[in-house]
Amino acid sequence: MAVGDAFGVPYEFLSREEARRRVTESMQGWGTHNQPPGTWSDDTSLALCTADAMVKDYSVSKVAQNFVKWLDEGLWTPHGTAFDIGGTTRDAINRLRSGVDPMLAGGQDEMDNGNGSLMRILPVLWYFEQKGHYDVRTVAELSSLTHGHPRSMTACVTLVRFAQLILYHGKEKAFDVFRKEVKENLFTQDEQAAHFSRLPHLDELPESEIQSGGYVIHTLEASIWCLLNTGNYKDAVLKAVRLGDDTDTTACVTGGLAGIAYGWQSIPDEWLTSLVQKDEIMGLCDRLESGG
Ligand SMILES: [Mg+2]
Repeated sequence: MAVGDAFGVPYEFLSREEARRRVTESMQGWGTHNQPPGTWSDDTSLALCTADAMVKDYSVSKVAQNFVKWLDEGLWTPHGTAFDIGGTTRDAINRLRSGVDPMLAGGQDEMDNGNGSLMRILPVLWYFEQKGHYDVRTVAELSSLTHGHPRSMTACVTLVRFAQLILYHGKEKAFDVFRKEVKENLFTQDEQAAHFSRLPHLDELPESEIQSGGYVIHTLEASIWCLLNTGNYKDAVLKAVRLGDDTDTTACVTGGLAGIAYGWQSIPDEWLTSLVQKDEIMGLCDRLESGG
């Protein structure tokens, strides 16, 4: 997730045409947010804040506290301060700071369906591995810290389930099972089902049908599509960034899925080496995997 995010950061908001022209195969810096190469953004920060709270004695309040510390004190930031913060996330963290119940802090309007909870949700999969069971409620609860609309929560549940299927069955088989589960509406509430209806046929859609802005459904579709249409970590992330627009988030989620599908060892050395705070991130991943 961190490598994909960092790879996409310099190109955020570029049009697809521009991204296709400008994105090279090496990790670049500067660009949109004027950050040095290997700098990851809010997506990774909040994913790491989540992972950190899950190493031991998880509670949703612990995650909430970490989110506040991220914004106020720069917890899990690449260079000491938070940057690239979404509006829905900022409003929710302000509510969390003022003592609003974590379950009620997230935006619940139709317009609060940006990709701000989807971009940080994948670490929960390792918490489930640690516990030995998958719990839809925990995923929904984590989303609702910042994004409490049923569509955002469902998108998170859907992504985590797909990631889990990749972990257990590998990429190809995972999509077959996933397709079936989506068609049977296994994790889609009725009134949201229509928004998820393209997922079972994603593999047949051409690139022109895939959108890569900040809407949660677009990020969900784009990341799965990038994984299905490439054969290794590098190509998956490159494809995500070359879609343009919300490049860091699409590449962050795609990178998360590709990391599960191909293993972190498949990440190009040059990309991994240039990652800011690589050792701290690897250390946290190890602690999350081992549960302490
Ligand atoms: Mg970002």
